[in-house]
Amino acid sequence: MTERAPAPATLDAVAVERLRGVASRVAERLARLGIATVQDLLFHLPLRYQDRTRLVPMGQLLPGAEAQVEGTIAAAEVAQGPRRTLRVWLTDGRAGLVLRFFHFTVRQTAALRAGVRLRCYGEVRQGFQSLEMVHPEYRLVAATDLPPLDAALTPVYPTTEGLGQTTWRALTDQALDWLRRDAAALPELVPEALLAGRRWPSLAEALIFLHRPPVDASAADLRERGHPAFRRLALEELIAHQLSLRRVRRRQHQCRAPVLTGDGRLRARLLAGLPFALTGAQRRVGDEIAADLRRSHPMQRLLQGDVGTGKTVVAVLAALQAIEAGHQVALMAPTELLSEQHQRNLAGWLGPLGFEPLWLAGRHKGRARATLLERIAAGEAPLVVGTHALFQDYVAFARLGLVVIDEQHRFGVHQRMRLLGKGQAAGQVPHQLIMTATPIPRSLAMTLYADLDLSVIDERPPGRQPVTTVAIPDGRRDEVIERVRAFCADGRQAYWVCTLIEESEALQCQAAEDTARALAERLPGLRVGLVHGRLKGGERDAAMGRFVAGELDLLVATTVIEVGVDVPSASLMIIENPERLGLAQLHQLRGRIGRGASESHCVLLYHAPLSDQARTRLGLLRESDDGFAIARKDLELRGPGEVLGTRQTGAVQFRIADPLRDEALLAEAQRLADRMLADHPALVDPLIARWLGGREAYGLV
Ligand code: ADP
Ligand code: MG
Repeated sequence: MTERAPAPATLDAVAVERLRGVASRVAERLARLGIATVQDLLFHLPLRYQDRTRLVPMGQLLPGAEAQVEGTIAAAEVAQGPRRTLRVWLTDGRAGLVLRFFHFTVRQTAALRAGVRLRCYGEVRQGFQSLEMVHPEYRLVAATDLPPLDAALTPVYPTTEGLGQTTWRALTDQALDWLRRDAAALPELVPEALLAGRRWPSLAEALIFLHRPPVDASAADLRERGHPAFRRLALEELIAHQLSLRRVRRRQHQCRAPVLTGDGRLRARLLAGLPFALTGAQRRVGDEIAADLRRSHPMQRLLQGDVGTGKTVVAVLAALQAIEAGHQVALMAPTELLSEQHQRNLAGWLGPLGFEPLWLAGRHKGRARATLLERIAAGEAPLVVGTHALFQDYVAFARLGLVVIDEQHRFGVHQRMRLLGKGQAAGQVPHQLIMTATPIPRSLAMTLYADLDLSVIDERPPGRQPVTTVAIPDGRRDEVIERVRAFCADGRQAYWVCTLIEESEALQCQAAEDTARALAERLPGLRVGLVHGRLKGGERDAAMGRFVAGELDLLVATTVIEVGVDVPSASLMIIENPERLGLAQLHQLRGRIGRGASESHCVLLYHAPLSDQARTRLGLLRESDDGFAIARKDLELRGPGEVLGTRQTGAVQFRIADPLRDEALLAEAQRLADRMLADHPALVDPLIARWLGGREAYGLV
């Protein structure tokens, strides 16, 4: 290929198809990774690097590390047996290494003979007798004419099926050539002046460095992503995110919302009837929300509080303020089970005030459903409780003033946006209160939810007993069952939580059913109930109701009870296979106990053997009851996407930055975002487009 069409202005406008070797099949695979343009390709950074710039003497090899070695074959044989294996003994004169192949061709066996010289690259492992490499990359070399070593580290790209590393290198080579020829094809959008004094590489330099690091680049810097080239890109991405969130926020501020002052009549009556006094944190947060609701632009507030800190009553006070002002309130829960519980609790609290919440559930069908919808549309239902059912287009509110979303991290982005649309008919949008028990660090919250104001309940109601947690291998299951028997024989209640890999709800429910049956057989004296996501609403209701009423001793459940379920008298929880769950999720589960006055116990019934990481995680859970510390650790171990549940919804995805690891850059990014808005407004839109493209809508989560 010698002729090119005249180069277009910038690489964000150059489709990957323009590169050599990108036929439609390759383009499709790149598209799976969100790569459509040459600029996208450049932002797709290597995951790690291989060092093929030197040969490691075999005597210095370390198990677990990757290395390039060169030596002569001393012997080779095909071992028969349960698994045919080609074994090749390689030596460099001083030490040796075994190469092991499980898949090999006749040609390979013929080529790998004694006396042949090889250069190999692979991961070193400790074999039975000596160090080994399993399926190394190798090539035959001639002692008289050794090929030169690489001059740069070899990048390894994150990839998708059907795209090999050779393809990635060929494509990025072309993209980098383009950039070297014409740096203006990827213009700087963060002005020099803002980065002054940092001696950071330019955008083009940073990208070239990270795709093709020179031999002397610090391996640790590259691994930890602490190199200035990396930080330079992460900072730019964080600035773009800040700018985008601010743009979203500005749009929100231009919206109007009903002023919900209220006369305090209902709130006073609720408080007078409560069996407890609000904690200081609840009062403070309640005041923040009350003030927001009195403004004429929509509240967008995130209410954070660990499990059991009492978020519900705060939400109800906000709801009453809206109702006093003559508006409707929608309260949304992520599961039907939880919405039912809200319905029950709220009915108990609001009954004495003279009204009942309207509950819209999946099980309401036909005529009954139509009637409920009519009442909502006529404005007769001041408080509507439900699940995502409330997001459906056919649900219309007459005067929606406030939307409360419980356990926000379980909702998808589109659902929330749909709901925002609902109030807009009257030219106004409702206020929003978003509650979550995931206590993400403040700095992280500021990045991910920069469009939201933040309130934190950092105090538990008094009189709570801490939960004692132990980890026991499932080989001692019988012992644990005995313990449940003894515990419940004393008149106390327990949960038995079955977990399975989350994708398969059906399997999880099946496991819970089997477990409930087996436990009922083993514990004939106990009344055993079952709750899972596939039970009919009525059955589940009944089981839950009986458990609440103390008519069941043991409740077998899936993780549907993770969020919000509140039965203060239950004080023992067995969690099966806790190693499969994230820390934050385990903490949520465990938060179901320790709600009453008696001492509570959590047994983590794990499947041995545990990986080191699982051991660390369960250990942390045993030692800490602080949701904050746990969430932070979880973030470190699993990354924000997993913990915040945003991976599935695509809500927060950074290409390069990691708001946790790059926490130190966050404040800087905010400062620079301010300066961009003040001094370089024309660059703001292109910068957002560069990093977020069509994904900006996530700012509305
Ligand atoms: P979460 O924040 O996890 O949603 P809930 O709102 O379900 O917590 O509250 C947990 C329990 O604590 C409920 O039984 C609730 O009635 C009770 N509670 C809430 N606030 C207080 C308080 N100030 N004092 C005592 N108990 C409270
Ligand atoms: Mg709750």
